[in-house]
Amino acid sequence: PRPNALSESYWMPFTAARAFREAPMMFVGAEGMHYLESGGRRVLDGMAGLWCVNAGHGHPRITEAIRTAAGQLDFVSSFRMGHPGAFAFAERLTAAAPEGLDHVFFSNSGSEAVDSALKIARAYYRVRGEGGRTKLVGRAKSYHGVGFGGLSVGGIGRHKRDFGPLLPDVYHLPLPYDPARMGFPNGRPAVGADYAESLEALLAVQDPSTVAAVIVEPVTGSGGVYPPPQGYLERLREICTKHGILLIFDEVITGFGRLGTCFASQAFGVTPDLIACAKGLTNGAVPMGATLVSAGIYEAFMAGPPEAVQLFHGYTYSGHPLACAAGLAALEAYEQEGIFANAAAMAEPFAQALHALRDAPHVVDIRTIGILGAIELAPRGGTRGPAVADRCFAAGVLVRAAGDMLVLSPPLILAPAEIDRIAQTIRDALLAEA
Ligand code: PMP
Repeated sequence: PRPNALSESYWMPFTAARAFREAPMMFVGAEGMHYLESGGRRVLDGMAGLWCVNAGHGHPRITEAIRTAAGQLDFVSSFRMGHPGAFAFAERLTAAAPEGLDHVFFSNSGSEAVDSALKIARAYYRVRGEGGRTKLVGRAKSYHGVGFGGLSVGGIGRHKRDFGPLLPDVYHLPLPYDPARMGFPNGRPAVGADYAESLEALLAVQDPSTVAAVIVEPVTGSGGVYPPPQGYLERLREICTKHGILLIFDEVITGFGRLGTCFASQAFGVTPDLIACAKGLTNGAVPMGATLVSAGIYEAFMAGPPEAVQLFHGYTYSGHPLACAAGLAALEAYEQEGIFANAAAMAEPFAQALHALRDAPHVVDIRTIGILGAIELAPRGGTRGPAVADRCFAAGVLVRAAGDMLVLSPPLILAPAEIDRIAQTIRDALLAEA
């Protein structure tokens, strides 16, 4: 196997020297479920790029929309200017969002969508004369990007360790997960709603009138695919409503069909006050993030606090013409090609194929929901995951390793044969590691 080709070092700057020393997997093209190597080999993409290419790679409709947009208007600022494509996309996006989230702030990534959500939440209370509400609550093992806001509310210690001091007045709830207690027969534990009481416990210590927002991923993604126990998100919603605290869902991974509905909040029947999304927003084809908010939050933010002229927030590239064109085409493709419905139909075969790996060597836990899966391997200092992923890659299947864990989120256009190939390739790789 290649030297740790799937390790986090891949994130480092693309200097030529580094990229070649680390021997990354190099792709020159992509189509549908596959990446293409320069030698012509096709690699089955078990990760949808990085949880983003939900309609498959190189989607003709999206590619064409980007091409057309690039020929029309290269750039226009979102500060007192705009273009029709941004409004058309905002309309389509909010129509697909849960009831009530009908305004959108565009940005360029998941990290920015999250930081925007956190800033908007605080500003909302400032405008309402509740400026004392500044505290933020995140959750253990959650990933909210690499900006200082997202990093601060995020719950993956090793990501944060070397960048402090981070935001003050941030608190974390525990991960609602205990394999011994819950088990994962169908991917979604029936018990564990009571983990939400940790929020009440926190609010018994931290005065609720000092807390602005609670942010959670509906399904913990990068931290290891932990589906929420039944009733847990509902209870978080209740507690936030009771104390007047805003609930933010980070749907950067779960948005755009991973759970068979456009947003996870629709799958779980729990509506947050704000949603941060990115990735599948444009099918990964152009960088973009979006923060969806209710009319009340939007109006407060736009009005600004009494003593200020106007709140300032926004990015140079907010609502970029290429991104809006890609996003609109992606939403049309998702809807017209029944891509979320396919995700819903494939969820059960996907779960069965992965859970069937329970008896394979080194496997200690398997978690699935929708078209998301994690296979936890017996710990070996973080080297087992990359070793197994490298074997899969050698066999032509791309899976992601995160320490001693394999993570799967293939494009939502997957078919049973591809599910079987992914599962069989992982089984063979685990057997070879024995
Ligand atoms: N939130 C979640 C839940 C994510 O999974 C990610 C990216 N993996 C982010 C935020 C950050 O997104 P980006 O990398 O586009 O900044």
